[in-house]
Parts: sequence; structure tokens; C-alpha cells
Amino acid sequence: MGLLGIATPEEHGGLGGDFLMSSIVIDELSYSNCSGPGWAIHSDIIMPYILHHGTPEQIQRFLPAMSAGKCIGAIAMTEPGAGSDLQGIRTNAKKDGDDYILNGSKVFITNGYMSDVVIVVALTNPTAKTAAHGISLFLVEEGMKGFIKGKKLKKMGLKAQDTAELFFEDVRLPKSALLGQENRGFYYLMNELPQERLLIGIMAMASCEYMFEETRKYVKERKAFGKTLSKLQVIQHQLAEMKTEISIGRAFIDQCLDIHNTRTLDSSTASMAKYWASELQNKVADRCVQLHGGWGYMQEYGICRAYTDARVQRIYGGSNEVLRGLIARQIIMD
Ligand SMILES: Cc1cc2nc3c(=O)[nH]c(=O)nc-3n(C[C@H](O)[C@H](O)[C@H](O)COP(=O)(O)OP(=O)(O)OC[C@H]3O[C@@H](n4cnc5c(N)ncnc54)[C@H](O)[C@@H]3O)c2cc1C
Repeated sequence: MGLLGIATPEEHGGLGGDFLMSSIVIDELSYSNCSGPGWAIHSDIIMPYILHHGTPEQIQRFLPAMSAGKCIGAIAMTEPGAGSDLQGIRTNAKKDGDDYILNGSKVFITNGYMSDVVIVVALTNPTAKTAAHGISLFLVEEGMKGFIKGKKLKKMGLKAQDTAELFFEDVRLPKSALLGQENRGFYYLMNELPQERLLIGIMAMASCEYMFEETRKYVKERKAFGKTLSKLQVIQHQLAEMKTEISIGRAFIDQCLDIHNTRTLDSSTASMAKYWASELQNKVADRCVQLHGGWGYMQEYGICRAYTDARVQRIYGGSNEVLRGLIARQIIMD
């Protein structure tokens, strides 16, 4: 449908648009309660890594195929023993002549099961003063010997996108699989994270708007005690509160979008967008299920799925607790 690679230049198979255009697709998907496909991570997280840090050969090899949806991308940072604390990763790539030998495992990887190419975060200098100075990124492709995909994990929500475990057993990687420079991986991750966090914020706001509209329709139709629920003042006040908070959130997210479109959104503001909007999403989800009564608990109602899909938004992309810490550190430093 031409909805992938919107912000990727035309010469690399994309649409040649910008992140603002891409965000419209993300927004519309979430507003239609279509949280399923891991499009945003493929198009707006993985593809930018390759565009910004890839060699001309890597860009040509992957981006046109990724824009066409023939090559599915994933990014593998998290490990069974290291999530929030990325410096605790154990997956490592050891030099062997011109090649690297990759060993380790990753968990919770979106698109991992379907992936054709995975950006794998690995230690390349375990003796570096901090792990941040010894991390590199590698493009690991399906079919490479020793790259094993584990089972699809069973999740509370987001059922239409796969989340998988990945294993690397002596995977021989040519030098051409290194993305960017050796030992610079941590900096590349830090550079790309604001967009990932803003993306989560955009999805959260659009989901709030979806849930609100669904609930508004429902309370205007549902009758109790001889009148519709929307005639009850206690319900009207809940709608008024939600509408106000959603409007405030929308204004902030749109402002972040404008700033990010000039590539000047800082990590702290992006973290505010992700943390605050995902908290609001969960609050709105809970209220809207409640306003649907028992029907809100039934999967045939969109609000039920929106509720279970919302929960993880506070966990991934930097947990909200970790992000509060990051924002606080910036405040103290300023
Ligand atoms: C559906 C789904 C999709 C995902 N997709 C991907 C993906 O594509 N790629 C990828 O690499 N990862 C992915 N993840 C992993 C996700 O990013 C991690 O789950 C997240 O970073 C948290 O790490 P953890 O699960 O190890 O929890 P932990 O780091 O063990 O945290 C546990 C709890 O402790 C809190 N905590 C930890 N450190 C601190 C601190 N310093 N201060 C205060 N509180 C703290 C956390 O907030 C959390 O509440 C995904 C996860 C899920 C569930």
C-alpha cells in the first residue's frame, strides 16, 4: 500500500517524505485501533538506523526491500538478564580475522519471528571502562548459520505482532555486517531513541482519541434507569475530564512532532512525551472500559483490545520509571 518507508528518500525506495508524514500513518493506525502490525518499528526505527549509519552498500541492500515490505526489520537490544540496564548485556561479537563471531540471546523482540534482518546490539569491547564504550550494532540476516529464532511469546495484548526470542550460536558475521563504527553502538542508540519515544507518545495519544470516541458513542446509546448513560452528570464529568486531558496531551505531542521534524527534539522532552502520554493512555483505557460496563470486558468490543494493548506502552521504549529518572537527571544537570 506504500505505507512503509515514508520518511526514506526516494532514491532508496522510500516515499521521500518526512517524519511528520510518517507520523500521520502511525496516528491513523492507532486511531483505528489497529495496533497490530509492527510497522512503526520497521519503518521509523529500523530503517532510520540503516539510513543514518549504514554504508551505501547496506543502504542499497536493505532499504528498497524494506520499503517494499519484502524484508522485515527488527531491533534486538533486550536480553533475558538486561532490559532497562542496557549496559548489562552479555551478547558479544569477537573478532576473528576480518569477521566477527556472535554469541548470545535476545528476548521480547518485536517482529523477531518474521524478521529478515535484525539490528543486534552486542559487546565488542568487554574491557571498555563502561559498556557504553564497547557496544556495536550488527545487521544479522535470516539464514545465517547459528542464527536461531525461538518461539513466539504469548502476550497480554498486541496479538497481531510477533514478539520473539532470538539466539546466536557462533554466528559468523562478515565485516560488512557491522552497522556504523565499532564500539559506537551505544551512541547510535542514544541518537535514535527520541524518535522511538515520540512514536510511542503519538500512538498513545491517537489511541486515547479512539477510546474516547468509542466511549462517547457508547454512552450516548446505552440506556440505564430510563435514560442514556450520557444524561448522567457523573458520566458527563468523566467525559469532560478525559476530553480535557486528551486535548492537553495532543497539544504537547503535536509540539514535540514539530520540534522533531527539525531534528532538535532532545531526549528528555521525548521521554516526557512517551511517559506522560502512555500513562494517560492507560488511565483513559481503564475509564473507558469501566464506562462500557461488562461489554468493555468482552473481546468483541474494540475498547477491550485497546485496554490490553495499552499496558505495554508503559514498559517498552524505556520504562516510565527509567524515563522519569532520565528527565530528573537532566533537570538537575541544567
Ligand atoms: C511487547 C514488547 C515488545 C518489545 N519489543 C522490543 C524490541 O523490539 N526490541 C528490544 O530490544 N526490546 C523490546 N522489548 C523489551 C522492553 O524494551 C523491555 O521489556 C524494557 O526495556 C524493560 O526491561 P525489562 O523487561 O528487562 O525490565 P527491567 O529492566 O527488569 O525492569 C523491571 C521493573 O523495574 C523498573 N526499573 C528498572 N530499572 C529502574 C531504575 N533505574 N529506576 C526505577 N525503576 C527501574 C522498571 O521500570 C520495571 O518496572 C519489548 C517488550 C515488550 C513487552
